[in-house]
Amino acid sequence: MYIDKDLCQSCLDCLPVCPMGAIMLKDKEVIIDYEMCVECGVCRRFRICPEDAIKQVEEIPYPRIIRAVFSDPLVTHESTGIGGRGTEEMKTNDVTNNFTLGKIGFSVELGRPGVGAYLSDLDKVARKVTSMGVIFAEENPVIPLIADRKTGALRPEILKEKVLSAIVEFLVPEEDALDFIDELKKFMNEELETVATMSVISRADQNGDSEFLKKLKDHGETPYPNGKVNIGMAIV
Ligand code: SF4
Ligand code: SF4
Repeated sequence: MYIDKDLCQSCLDCLPVCPMGAIMLKDKEVIIDYEMCVECGVCRRFRICPEDAIKQVEEIPYPRIIRAVFSDPLVTHESTGIGGRGTEEMKTNDVTNNFTLGKIGFSVELGRPGVGAYLSDLDKVARKVTSMGVIFAEENPVIPLIADRKTGALRPEILKEKVLSAIVEFLVPEEDALDFIDELKKFMNEELETVATMSVISRADQNGDSEFLKKLKDHGETPYPNGKVNIGMAIV
């Protein structure tokens, strides 16, 4: 995204809309910081500019296009057919049944509006959890970015790209899950340069209880349980 200097009247209306603070006044000129911009499209989509001075290049080149693919909810991931972070694995588990009894589903979400995440941090997480022997959830747009499934290493040319957020999802056997959490938390606190959230999912039993939730509390965690119930239609 860029601002056409010839059209811009420096009214500053567009500054507050950018979730990354990438639109700024510099030397009396309103600019979009090329590095800070994650190509989320918000500034253009809201048609905030009375002069139509906010422009997009005809085609965002690779690897920069990865920014838009992960940050602009109107851009669909080719690999999953879903926009934004491009995954609905956990939200649709009652249909997909990927996260089953005896296995704990995990997600690690990197970045947030205002902060974002470099894919170098995603690379660190993918390598770490690969070394810990997880089973990746495959219907996730992070998977095609992994160049080496043995190490979890991402494609090297994308590591300097920044996105609003990205999520890795995977499975861990329930008996290993608490130790896994301890190790991954330590890694996230020590190694990552952005904000990160770890989520876990376990199936409820027939009474609607979750044994794993109790185990988490006994382990000293403070989980904030969320139920996901799909009330939409399924194609059968
Ligand atoms: S595309 Fe998104 S990140 Fe880039 S300047 Fe516009 S609002 Fe900010
Ligand atoms: S809203 Fe348009 S005219 Fe106003 S500062 Fe932004 S780009 Fe310039």
